[in-house]
Amino acid sequence: MSGCGADRLASAGYARHLCPMSPFHSHMQIALAEARAAAARGEVPVGAVITSPDGQVIAAAGNRTREVRDPTAHAEMLAIRAACAHLGQERLTGFDIHVTLEPCAMCAMAIAHARLRRLYYGAADPKSGGVAHGARVFTHPQAHHVPEIYDGIDARAAEALMREFFRKLR
Ligand SMILES: [Zn+2]
Repeated sequence: MSGCGADRLASAGYARHLCPMSPFHSHMQIALAEARAAAARGEVPVGAVITSPDGQVIAAAGNRTREVRDPTAHAEMLAIRAACAHLGQERLTGFDIHVTLEPCAMCAMAIAHARLRRLYYGAADPKSGGVAHGARVFTHPQAHHVPEIYDGIDARAAEALMREFFRKLR
């Protein structure tokens, strides 16, 4: 991307990293805010944001498995459901998802079913992840759609949230 007004402001010293179109920063910041809100509700701190092909935020969600007593109420699932409901369609072709943590196998498969274009995620999840670990859902021929995958986006912030959450549980 060739920059925006915020970049020019940044170079003038007024602001930093405020480009509203940058998928590599601001959208993950929204996902991190959802993750923090989830932690405040006593949920595992994971947040997800879905953006349209032109970079608009269509849906944002954090984990709510405890609140709604639903083991499938992961941030990605809720964001996908909300985006589809909002758009009145069952696929999100051309849309992107930004998640603070490596999606589990269930969510990775939902991302494939939704035909999401790109998956941006933050921290790796060796314990429950299903993208780079475990089931490695997108490497199987049964994953009929494979998004472009970008990992490690704002990973340190997401890792810190997870560490803090599980430290408090002990
Ligand atoms: Zn999941």
